[in-house]
Amino acid sequence: MNTVFVLSNTKKPLMPTRPARARRLLRDKKAAVYRMYPFTIILKERADGETQPIEAKFDPGSKTTGIALVAEFPQQGRVVLWAANLNHRGDSIRKRLADRRAIRRNRRNRKTRYRQMRVLNRKRPQGWLPPSLQSRVDNVENWLKKIIDRAPIAAVAVETARFDTQALQNPEISGVEYQQGELAGYELREYLLEKWNRTCAYCGAQHVPLEIEHIVSRSKGGSDRVSNLTLACHDCNQKKGNQPLEVFLAHDPKRLARIKAHAKAPLKDAAAVNVIRYAIGNALKKFGLPVSFWSGGRTKKNRVLQGYTKDHWIDAACVGETGAEVHIPQEMRPLIITATGRGHRQFTRVNKFGFPCAKAKTGKTVNEIRTGDVVKLIQPKGKYAGEYCARVTAIKNSNNYISITVNHKQTWFAAKLAHIMQRGDGYAYAYA
Ligand SMILES: [Zn+2]
Repeated sequence: MNTVFVLSNTKKPLMPTRPARARRLLRDKKAAVYRMYPFTIILKERADGETQPIEAKFDPGSKTTGIALVAEFPQQGRVVLWAANLNHRGDSIRKRLADRRAIRRNRRNRKTRYRQMRVLNRKRPQGWLPPSLQSRVDNVENWLKKIIDRAPIAAVAVETARFDTQALQNPEISGVEYQQGELAGYELREYLLEKWNRTCAYCGAQHVPLEIEHIVSRSKGGSDRVSNLTLACHDCNQKKGNQPLEVFLAHDPKRLARIKAHAKAPLKDAAAVNVIRYAIGNALKKFGLPVSFWSGGRTKKNRVLQGYTKDHWIDAACVGETGAEVHIPQEMRPLIITATGRGHRQFTRVNKFGFPCAKAKTGKTVNEIRTGDVVKLIQPKGKYAGEYCARVTAIKNSNNYISITVNHKQTWFAAKLAHIMQRGDGYAYAYA
């Protein structure tokens, strides 16, 4: 179990405590619940307490970021106090923006007179990231802020990239690479190793020295673009020479198709991770805490040497020098945080042709409850009789109903049966 965050009566963050002690404090009315997720209590009388420095550690990923809070005690050594897996929502943001763009284009084509095209008069500010990536950076920044408000954090450690996209002349993420070509020598090699999984593309050999190989050879006019490069062992490289790929792999059409498809596909996830990690590092510096950066290789070594399984929050706990010796309590279960956003501003649903197809949206609340709030709900009778504590997944204005998930199914209840435990904050919570 995660430890419980504790605030003093002046909302000063104190040392997190064991769940059993938190229960006792609550039962004796010495504390009250401050937040459900992450579970935080506030003491009624004490204004201060002894604290040890806690390190907040992050392992940023493209879909999930691991978070771990580690404190050092004189006897037990370094112990993970609290951990979470933060799930990002990059894909859904991209999809919503694409939908919005399509709907607007359609409407303007129907309703607006012809207007001459505007020149490209829009500029992107420095450090601009695509919204789907920016949201990941914002998620992590937001959670460090929440954690600083709840625990005595003294230092931050972040895992950074294996290869530095700042040194890549054209990170694939913006698609420039296709137009402009080259990556810098060492970074290019690392990038290709990652993209081709450290394997000879032609024979599948691993753990052998690999050479950078032009798919369409230079002598036949092949370019130095990343999409024309792969990795081959020395033998395969020699054997292929300047033959076209189709001839060289005529006996193995499956492999041929796979190589062709893979060469064109950019290393999206990895590229995204690198861009995000760099941006996250910068974002975390804003809080005025010492931030240290560590390589992924070190994290993996720390984790494997200590015999821990792979999980995002465990990786986070193993980041950096302090990750070489860290005790993870056996009963530790991370909080699963999923970024959900805060709804949308679209007023009319549209059909697949982009025409309005439903009534315009009315209010966003029923009985002051809105989607994303955590409510306590008592249904006195019927099939769903019982007490529930859950996140509101949708509201219906027409009959003042709200829905929560019961047994994996969306289930509707009258809003008057519910009262709000915690306001929605753009995240959904669960325990692993
Ligand atoms: Zn080979």
